[in-house]
Amino acid sequence: MVRFTVLASGSKGNSAVVTGGRTRILVDCGLSCRELFRRMSLAGEDPQTLDAIIITHEHSDHVHGVAVTARKLGIPVYFTEATHGAWRRWLTPRRQMTYTQWLEQCRKQAAERQAEAECAAEEGEPDETDLLADAEPVSPGMADIAAADAQAEAAKPQKDAAWLPAVEYFEAGRPFVIGDISISPFTIPHDAADPVGFVLQAEGVRMAFATDLGYIPPNVKAQLQALDLLLLESNHDLEMLRDGPYPWSVKQRVLSRVGHLSNDAAADFLENGYDGQAAYVILAHLSESNNLPELARVMAERALNGGASLLANALLLANQHEPLSSIFF
Ligand SMILES: [Zn+2]
Ligand SMILES: [Zn+2]
Repeated sequence: MVRFTVLASGSKGNSAVVTGGRTRILVDCGLSCRELFRRMSLAGEDPQTLDAIIITHEHSDHVHGVAVTARKLGIPVYFTEATHGAWRRWLTPRRQMTYTQWLEQCRKQAAERQAEAECAAEEGEPDETDLLADAEPVSPGMADIAAADAQAEAAKPQKDAAWLPAVEYFEAGRPFVIGDISISPFTIPHDAADPVGFVLQAEGVRMAFATDLGYIPPNVKAQLQALDLLLLESNHDLEMLRDGPYPWSVKQRVLSRVGHLSNDAAADFLENGYDGQAAYVILAHLSESNNLPELARVMAERALNGGASLLANALLLANQHEPLSSIFF
């Protein structure tokens, strides 16, 4: 049995579960662990049976709960090496380096004061040394150490935040297997370190993930054929984005070649670039500020009717706030 469940889709969190044979994989983990588990049980999925997590890219809406979830379940996380690195850097920002340097500096200063105090003692000025030891070097030194300890405590969760029970690397263009599911990662144009889409195959059923992409280049088009299920981004309506609340710079980012796919671009692909074979087309990563589900649906329906599809593609809309009913093959 193959089972496909979208748990969440949109800029506030993305996650889906794919079951094939005896293997169950979480694709992206953009919800908190608690919310993920809640939605899985709502959808009738048992989190304890997950075998692995695979990650498309390091943006927060795709990785927010990954560390806690992987640790809680004791399961491996699959990234590209660049995505893993970017994610780690995101969790362990530069101030940790500054802290290390700062700590080193504190140690040096304490040693210097100590040396000065010892030097003074050797010169036969015990009273002053005691004074120095009590007042000057020791008290601020202790304060420094206390501050350093406090900082170390504060830095600890940061340090541990990127710890995972197991990390596996994959590369775009090189298919790999987890249990009964084979996975083909492919490069997508998006403003992340090494973003990918996936085609998952189990028991002869092919399911594609194609969200977070500025446009559909030929390599992606080639992957999105002969599918049974297509999860396709339909992020924004161009006019709503143009007139909407986002600042100009964010609008430019969304619209760029490494941003997000508009309803028009998704519809253009469905009409002109897609073979119409998938039994299910799921529109995904819809913007809550710059799109309306009805707009996305109407455009995709029109495109599917006008396209080469001979089969009736069931058109579904993935939701930010609740899981979509599981699809079984
Ligand atoms: Zn996203
Ligand atoms: Zn993204």
